[in-house]
Amino acid sequence: MAYKISDDCISCGACAAECPVSAISEGDGKYVIDADTCIDCGSCESTCPVGAPQAE
Ligand code: SF4
Ligand code: SF4
Repeated sequence: MAYKISDDCISCGACAAECPVSAISEGDGKYVIDADTCIDCGSCESTCPVGAPQAE
């Protein structure tokens, strides 16, 4: 299991700065999470201003 960022993402970058394992990077139109790197800590979900990262 891993977190996934929905299309609600406004590419603010806040989650990428908070991810302890640097699993989040800027993608095409939104930020994306590398599922193999994510450790399900939930930090991105609590950091995001629009609630885009969600546990799958
Ligand atoms: Fe990074 Fe944690 Fe979000 Fe996974 S849940 S992408 S490890 S901040
Ligand atoms: Fe997108 Fe939310 Fe991450 Fe900002 S914090 S880049 S809006 S997922």
